Order: sequence, then C-alpha cells, then structure tokens
Amino acid sequence: MGKYTGPACRLCRREGLKLFLKGDRCYSDKCAFERRSYVPGQHGQARVKISNYGLQLREKQKVKRMYGLLERQFRTCFEKADWQKGVTGTNLLVLLERRLDNAVYRLGFASARRQARHLVRHNHFLVNGKKVNIPSYLVKVGDVLEIKEKSRSILAINEAVEAVVRRGVPQWLELDKDNFRGTVKAYPMREDLTMPMQEQLIVELYSK
Ligand code: SF4
Repeated sequence: MGKYTGPACRLCRREGLKLFLKGDRCYSDKCAFERRSYVPGQHGQARVKISNYGLQLREKQKVKRMYGLLERQFRTCFEKADWQKGVTGTNLLVLLERRLDNAVYRLGFASARRQARHLVRHNHFLVNGKKVNIPSYLVKVGDVLEIKEKSRSILAINEAVEAVVRRGVPQWLELDKDNFRGTVKAYPMREDLTMPMQEQLIVELYSK
C-alpha cells in the first residue's frame, strides 16, 4: 500500500477520533473533526453495522495513521512486538512510542509526528551527541535527544517548543527546554498512552 497523500483531517473523520496530525490547528476551532465529526463521503452519516473484522481493521488503521506508518512498517513493528516477551498489544504500542520521530513529537520539538519525521530526516537531531536521521530509531533509557546548535533558530521548532507547555511532556521523558534537549527517563508504560486504543483488536486481526 502506498503513501497517503490526501487531506490529513479526512483520516480523523474516517477513524472517528482526533488523531492530532496537524499540529496547532488540531487544538483550535479550525479542526475539521470538531466541525464535522462524521465519516467523510456521500454515505458518511448513514448508520452502518460494523462486523468484528471491521472493528479490528478500523482499530489497526487508526493506530497506524496516528503514528503515520505505512502498512509494511506497521506490520514489521507488530512482528517485532510479537517476538518479544510479554503482551503483544502492549509491546506494539511501546515500540511505536519509542520511535525517534514520536519521542521528538512528545518532547515538543515538533507540533505533529509528520513534522517530527521531516525534521529527523533532515538531520536536525543528535542522539547522545551523534547524528541520527532515522525516524524509526528506537530510543533507549538514558538517551539524550538534542536539536543541533545551528537548527535551534528554526521558527517551527521554537513555536513547537513553546506549545509543549500547553500539551505537556509524558512522564517517561524529560525536557530541558532552554537547552533544546530531552532525556529518556524510562520506557513508556501502557498507562502513559492516553489516546483510546484497543490494541487487542490489532493482535486479533494480525493473528488470523
Ligand atoms: Fe485531525 Fe488535527 Fe485535522 Fe482536527 S485539525 S481533524 S485533529 S488532523
């Protein structure tokens, strides 16, 4: 399956949930989901009975779109989670959270995951003092994420850092706003993820 290039807000409306894909706009009254919270398309407001498979598929699509992954990337992540010890669904969410692009977003260095991925790919970040430009890099406890000295004047980064005060940084991360630096204090726990996600449905879907 190829990359989705359509409007991001359509995805939120399709999944029936705000996925926060567009940064500050998501927190404003311009949010398309706030205005039209029904499924897009001609039959969007019709009542449709959804099967078990449909529920599982929608849940997978929702989480995949939230983290901005393609099907193959998401599937690989699931396989890694399945291979690990513990509960596969929880492992999957923890792996998704530990992605470098997500950590950058959570720390408030970007206003959306899409922007975070773009910044990572364009070499604006250091991890433990070394250049890392792989969005799927998994952060570890003790890792220090830092914006490169010469990238600290980028307006989008500064605006995002200011906005993080409003959004808050999750407990597993620590932000040093003045030095454009963040530290991974612990691995994320299931309870750190506050968005409604039923990971068990994804496990059921992929276990068929
Ligand atoms: Fe989703 Fe953000 Fe668009 Fe609202 S503004 S519909 S939360 S992407």
